[in-house]
Amino acid sequence: MSANKQAIWVFGDYRNYFQNRVTLQLLSRAKDLAKKIDGEVCAVVFGHWTDEWVDDALSHNPTFCGVVGEYIAHGAARVYLTDHPRLSAYSMETYALLMERLARREKPEMILIGATAFGREFAPRVAKRLGTGLTADCIGLDINGEGLLVQMAPSFGGNLVAEIVTPERRPQMATVRPGIFQEIPHDYVRTGEVVRVPMPVDLPADRVRLVRVERCPQREQKLEDAKVVVCGGRGLGSRKKFAKLFELAELLGGEVGATRPVVYADWAGHDALVGQAGKQIRPQILFSFGISGAIQHTAACNNARFIVAVNKNPNAAMMKRADVAIVADASQLCATLIQELKKRIR
Ligand SMILES: Cc1cc2nc3c(=O)[nH]c(=O)nc-3n(C[C@H](O)[C@H](O)[C@H](O)COP(=O)(O)OP(=O)(O)OC[C@H]3O[C@@H](n4cnc5c(N)ncnc54)[C@H](O)[C@@H]3O)c2cc1C
Repeated sequence: MSANKQAIWVFGDYRNYFQNRVTLQLLSRAKDLAKKIDGEVCAVVFGHWTDEWVDDALSHNPTFCGVVGEYIAHGAARVYLTDHPRLSAYSMETYALLMERLARREKPEMILIGATAFGREFAPRVAKRLGTGLTADCIGLDINGEGLLVQMAPSFGGNLVAEIVTPERRPQMATVRPGIFQEIPHDYVRTGEVVRVPMPVDLPADRVRLVRVERCPQREQKLEDAKVVVCGGRGLGSRKKFAKLFELAELLGGEVGATRPVVYADWAGHDALVGQAGKQIRPQILFSFGISGAIQHTAACNNARFIVAVNKNPNAAMMKRADVAIVADASQLCATLIQELKKRIR
């Protein structure tokens, strides 16, 4: 690595399949951004047993596997690695401290972190320690004419996308929502540098002690497998009105799905997102409330057997795709259905 190349760091969140995908998506975008500033992509990994060496039988070169190898195969030119038994469980305080020290020493230009539950807590702590800004929950990243990171984030309840730059403070920091960028395919022959960063001896003890880890009980049925899906879009008008869908879904024995504007406005979690950036569904019956029917959404609904769409615009694409198209106010119709179903159950 050349000493004067600007570095774009991606924090390696690898705890489970979902979180690791976000890291890979960020590495891919970081690679595009690095081209624009003639920079270099680096991953930062804290953990234990993250870097097994294996002897490549053909080349006789020792190669990294585990997440370190995976990050190199997905675009990292170098990986900063602190591997220590104390890091086997994610710890907010220790991880933030390690990141701060490393960033002060190496001076990256940018740090990108997945907007996972952990990332959303971790990133502001690191930014505060480094005295820099942070844009949370970005949905786009680019480089402007001055070589600054343009951090695109939904604002005003998801109605506007703000383009934010950090002109003075460094590093430029952003958390990015999962599913925004496409990861690049695993490149089995790519090589990269691994910089081992020793665990500091003077690190204060964590104030929080991890007692045990328990898996959340699995939901009885997953959205992807649900026979009935009640999907809501921006046309529902508010978080409160959207919440009614959960009641309807329960009465119908189904699951709730959402469009991207709904997820961006935080009316529903990312795990409810149906579409190109979310989940594919294949229900026997799909109820679609206040959804326009953009291709990025409907591409994931192609396997729905029967579609009932409710929209105040009869010409909406979703209405054209539906087996039954009802021209009505989505939240009113939802409330009426709940009322009628309750009468029948009684
Ligand atoms: C790279 C990329 C990936 C994307 N991935 C996804 C994805 O995975 N999933 C996804 O959903 N989107 C995705 N999108 C966004 C997608 O293009 C659309 O913007 C989105 O699906 C629109 O959501 P919507 O139908 O809720 O909102 P809108 O398009 O705003 O539609 C709202 C609808 O509600 C109707 N309406 C308004 N008021 C009422 C009312 N009172 N009663 C009844 N109907 C009403 C309107 O007539 C309209 O048809 C992606 C976009 C891009 C560029």
